[in-house]
Amino acid sequence: SYGKWEIDPTHFTFIQEVGSGQFGVVKLASWQGTRKVAVKMIREGMMSEDDFVEEAQVLMKISHPKLVQLLGVCTQQVPIFLVFEFMEHGSLNEFLRRNRGTLTRGTALGMCQDVCEGMEYLESSNFIHRDLAARNCLVGESLVVKVSDFGMTRFVIDDQYTSSSGTKFPVKWSAPEVFRYGRYSSRSDVWSYGVLVWEVFSEGKTPFEHLSNSDAVEEISNGLRLFKPKLASEKVYQFMNSCWQESPEHRPSFCRLMKEISDIAEIEM
Ligand code: ADP
Repeated sequence: SYGKWEIDPTHFTFIQEVGSGQFGVVKLASWQGTRKVAVKMIREGMMSEDDFVEEAQVLMKISHPKLVQLLGVCTQQVPIFLVFEFMEHGSLNEFLRRNRGTLTRGTALGMCQDVCEGMEYLESSNFIHRDLAARNCLVGESLVVKVSDFGMTRFVIDDQYTSSSGTKFPVKWSAPEVFRYGRYSSRSDVWSYGVLVWEVFSEGKTPFEHLSNSDAVEEISNGLRLFKPKLASEKVYQFMNSCWQESPEHRPSFCRLMKEISDIAEIEM
């Protein structure tokens, strides 16, 4: 039964593989020869597909210029496909690494503003991302940055990824209440956003690079925070630090962060 968001897979012309992730390979394709799309081919056993297909209805209605749009799905076959808008410069963390030494403060701040805008929209929609990080943002035309993969960890089957003690769990991006109790909220997304701002101003460094996941948990609990990247001004460092307050209610909302980052941009750009 073809639903409203079902896309006919024969309408794709595959061009090349552009990456692979938790769920499988991602290919650039042309849809009916008219637009470029990214097709995620979901490897069998990697995703709770029935739960996803139900949630896809919700995901496809989430639409904002700073969020990577889910365009449709192909569920009448194995593997199933998820079809997204194509982002020509790929993931933000790889983009930052590729362009090390050339990033200006203005560009970095603009990227953080883009992500903040997308996240403000998710927050106002009461939608929690759960895995915000530079690797889950994509860079498009004229270096616009968009937030991707929102809510998708809920459909990952691999427990190394979903359990907070698992080797693939993103502890270094997680708020304390998340790695302790799995308590996700928009304010835990704010913590992750602070880490993402650090990644951008560090030009794609890995946070707490020298620490294992379990040491990171202990050190963060003891109050350790990421250092100030060279490219970041004191104001930008204060901004990211405000995201890392121990108690979630003391962290600013994305709505508040939008105002603060606009003020910084006005002074510094
Ligand atoms: P998964 O959700 O399976 O972990 P990712 O979303 O991390 O997969 O995608 C893997 C890689 O594929 C990304 O790092 C990026 O390089 C590429 N990619 C994913 N989505 C897109 C897209 N919409 N446009 C362009 N490249 C993409």
